[in-house]
Amino acid sequence: MDGDLTFRVPEPGFIDNLLSVLFPLRCVHCGAFGYWLCQSCAEALTAIGPENCSRCGRPGLDKVATCAECRGRNLPFGFARAAFRFEGPGRSLVHALKYGGQQRLARLMAAISCSAASLTVPEKDVTLTYVPLHRSKLASRGYNQAELYAKALSRLLDLPLTGLLEKKHPTPPQNRLNSKQRQNNLAGSFALRKEAGPPNSRILLIDDVYTTGSTAAECARVLCGGLGARVDVWTFARTVKE
Ligand SMILES: [Zn+2]
Ligand SMILES: [Zn+2]
Repeated sequence: MDGDLTFRVPEPGFIDNLLSVLFPLRCVHCGAFGYWLCQSCAEALTAIGPENCSRCGRPGLDKVATCAECRGRNLPFGFARAAFRFEGPGRSLVHALKYGGQQRLARLMAAISCSAASLTVPEKDVTLTYVPLHRSKLASRGYNQAELYAKALSRLLDLPLTGLLEKKHPTPPQNRLNSKQRQNNLAGSFALRKEAGPPNSRILLIDDVYTTGSTAAECARVLCGGLGARVDVWTFARTVKE
């Protein structure tokens, strides 16, 4: 990546100093002391360039082309874009935020993804929302990593954020399922939150990782159907099958 991406802790106060003695800060990928993400790991993030599938954002294609995975697929979102490949330091950041309890990483991840070449900062009439967790998962993890990332993006981009969706019932983890099984696993599991106010005419759905697009597609289907809005998808990372 270009630019200075050395992510040290800013201006530590007394509590931060105490915590840093008890729990020294380490780079999420290589373990170097004193950083959330050290300079060399920041440079090793694999950015997804501006040339990618017009629908799903799969890299390596002319902007107007659609990849083989999307052809013939009825995707309910306009486009999906990700900042980095889900590998190396990008994968470590997602894992540390999602499973490592490192909630503060959401701000860093928002900051570095906002400048990614694959992403265009949305216009003003956009409402941000995020992929929800079922309340049982939320209770065990203590937070929703997609919501934290979306909140950080909302602050940085000065765009409104609303929790528009809820997950009605828990579903088994997606990571061991194929694309068809993922779709079936999620079918009917998301719903519009009753208390959610009307959003703008465009919605940007935020998640941490795009894998096969099943989660994004199911959420977008509910949002489009219930609100009649255009939905696009923004994730921090994306898996790329070669
Ligand atoms: Zn490092
Ligand atoms: Zn595609």
